[in-house]
Amino acid sequence: MKLILIGIQGAGKSTQGNLLNENLQIPYLSTGHIFREMAKEKTPLGRYIKETMNAGYLIPDNKTLKIVESYLSRPEYEKGYIMDGFPRTAAQAQKFKNGIDKVIYLKVSDREALWRLAFRNSDGRDDETLPAIKKRIELFHKFTEPVIEYYHGKGKLIEIDGEKSIEEIHKEIMDKIGK
Ligand code: AMP
Repeated sequence: MKLILIGIQGAGKSTQGNLLNENLQIPYLSTGHIFREMAKEKTPLGRYIKETMNAGYLIPDNKTLKIVESYLSRPEYEKGYIMDGFPRTAAQAQKFKNGIDKVIYLKVSDREALWRLAFRNSDGRDDETLPAIKKRIELFHKFTEPVIEYYHGKGKLIEIDGEKSIEEIHKEIMDKIGK
């Protein structure tokens, strides 16, 4: 099964992604994690990714698509995956030809997300500053809401109230994907 998790930062995507990974035995991956690993590389690409992430901006679509497609071509993702953080723009969604089954949108208000992030231990992640978080929320509304519309139009969207408890949300996702 190929699942996508969508929501603003702080919506609970990685919490739900890890729970789904445990219960469904499907690998979980996130573009944020992939890019953070790449940002450690002391190469021009690594430095570029680091600066872009720390400002809260998006990596360009063509680079993102190439990187994601090369990851997903690995044998461990052949049968399925739970993807967090991609597609983030309408262009990424339209160009991604990987046969997604369902897109799970964890809906929380900006206010709730900012509140949660203020108390989250981000282990000194230098892309989790308040200006970068605010930029990401702004870009979510501008670029990622059209992705939600796109999958809604394809009948693949599952919208979940992300302000419920972790257990309730997990159960609702499992019900809605038929597990
Ligand atoms: P995240 O952990 O998902 O918030 O991602 C952290 C950062 O990685 C974002 O602010 C972007 O700079 C970059 N990033 C992650 N996923 C994408 C994507 N699908 N397209 C462009 N940039 C991305």
